Amino acid sequence: MNNNDTGETQKQDFIRTLVNDDLASQRFSGKVQTRFPPEPNGHLHLGHAKSICLNFGLASEYGGVCNLRFDDTNPTTESEEFADSIRKDIEWLLGHELPEEPVFASNYFDQLYEWAERLVELGKAYVDDQTAEMISTQRGSFTEPGVNSPFRERSPEENLVLFREMRAGKFSEGQCVLRAKISMDHDNMNMRDPVLYRIRHESHFRTANDWVIYPTYDWAHGQSDAIEGVTHSLCTLEFDSHRPLYDWFLEQLEIPHDKRPYQTEFARLNFTHTVLSKRLLRQLVEESVVQGWDDPRMPTLSGQRKRGYPPSAIRAFCDHIGIAKTNSTHEVELLESFVRSELNQTADRKMAVINPLKLTITNWPKGEIEYRDAINNPEDPSQGSRKVPFSGDLYIEHEDFMEDPPKKFFRLSPGREVRLRFGYFITCNEVIKDDDGNPVELLCTYDPETSGGKAPDGRKVKATLHWVEASNCVEGSAITYARLFRSEHPDTSSDVFQDLNHASLTKFSSVKFEPSIQDLLDGEVVQFERLGYFCKDDTEANLFHRTVGLRDEWANIQKRKGTN
Ligand code: ATP
Ligand code: MG
Repeated sequence: MNNNDTGETQKQDFIRTLVNDDLASQRFSGKVQTRFPPEPNGHLHLGHAKSICLNFGLASEYGGVCNLRFDDTNPTTESEEFADSIRKDIEWLLGHELPEEPVFASNYFDQLYEWAERLVELGKAYVDDQTAEMISTQRGSFTEPGVNSPFRERSPEENLVLFREMRAGKFSEGQCVLRAKISMDHDNMNMRDPVLYRIRHESHFRTANDWVIYPTYDWAHGQSDAIEGVTHSLCTLEFDSHRPLYDWFLEQLEIPHDKRPYQTEFARLNFTHTVLSKRLLRQLVEESVVQGWDDPRMPTLSGQRKRGYPPSAIRAFCDHIGIAKTNSTHEVELLESFVRSELNQTADRKMAVINPLKLTITNWPKGEIEYRDAINNPEDPSQGSRKVPFSGDLYIEHEDFMEDPPKKFFRLSPGREVRLRFGYFITCNEVIKDDDGNPVELLCTYDPETSGGKAPDGRKVKATLHWVEASNCVEGSAITYARLFRSEHPDTSSDVFQDLNHASLTKFSSVKFEPSIQDLLDGEVVQFERLGYFCKDDTEANLFHRTVGLRDEWANIQKRKGTN
């Protein structure tokens, strides 16, 4: 990154270099226009976030336009619900409403059809009556040229009649297609007379029954770019071999050079321990492996939102990884570290006990409640402090007590003194157990002299525990999440579901919260001291999802890598 004259940070990558070159050469008369082209057949995931940040980011950096353009060319799998959810997710990620209303490839169906007729008239497209299977076997392979269709030499006049009949609904599905007439022995398989239109007798969520033929991605995409005035059409690397076709269509249609968009490919985003394939994500939902597209374990944007990821942290992550030409997989811990460092600055601290163990202070005046000052955010003193009730009836975490502690366990155990956060030193004197010998209550005494969290005689304690006062607490639940897949690189070429982590969700149902959590908004994230960051669920009362833990696992990974 460089700093420009205005002091703003200017990103640098090969795409921005191209844009700068185009601006310098006046290729598009100073214009920069991009688009984000999702198919409304699923929900957006973190991979899409990279593309959204790039496309919308470029437009805003260069004072241009970025359209959200739905690539709605397949009525079978697409729907308005998907389109609405995609828009919502993009606006959430960007942190503002879309600057322009979304556009749809279906808006251009008339123009696309007209252009297809032009290709037919030019002798550059033909109606093929063969089945899809036949066409596919005739395509050949990387080593074998394709075979010409017996219908390839139909005259433009005959093709025009047939194509109009296709459009008029005279044929059944699969009876014929419109193909470009390029070359069946082209080195690039995408150039071997690709299909432009297929017949689908299906209602489309926007054009209803106006059409029974639908354009393919290749035919719709570049032409939609041209219609909208896109200058830089950015897509992921797998479209590299489609670029010659993209250019071929625009060339045949004689789109003027200064209005001719061009395609540039960049690397997809991948993460460890998850999959970013719409097909597999859909399968996770359909097979009830997760509780929906917005399950906090899903790498979908709605899942991340439900989990409490701040969109600005995802944007900062995308900026950080930048844009490159080689595919790579990023450690999910890196994204988490962006989430953690942002929340560390912004999230209020609260206390909650997720696995409660009763603790009674036997020398505390019975029934007396004291209000302790608790700082809201040590990283941001302007957030002030709050009063937290304290008494002789408390809960602490089960994990913070051991009857027979090993050497390195410094928390509470019989005879040991520890500090309570925002409170006193306490000593455990007695353990009450159930019939199975499990501790159910600790009887402790406190030292009134340690109200400030220090002992006047200078004696030290080795641990500070969080706690919740029993009579004022709010009851609820919390869910912590672990990786959805056990392997760092789930193998999607085999049955990746074998690799599922069956312990990816742990629910705690008798969580005790300090009373102030009642003031939180749905979706708000707080830090429960010592437990991590948690997001308040927006439907179920007093349910919190753990956004991310407190430990910086990314730092550990870097250390490990550094020493390897
Ligand atoms: P499909 O496999 O259904 O085509 P897709 O993930 O490509 O799924 P689209 O809706 O076509 O979904 O994607 C919209 C845009 O997002 C495309 O431009 C695509 O290149 C980009 N995109 C999708 N996945 C990633 C990813 N992992 N990293 C970066 N960009 C992505
Ligand atoms: Mg796609």
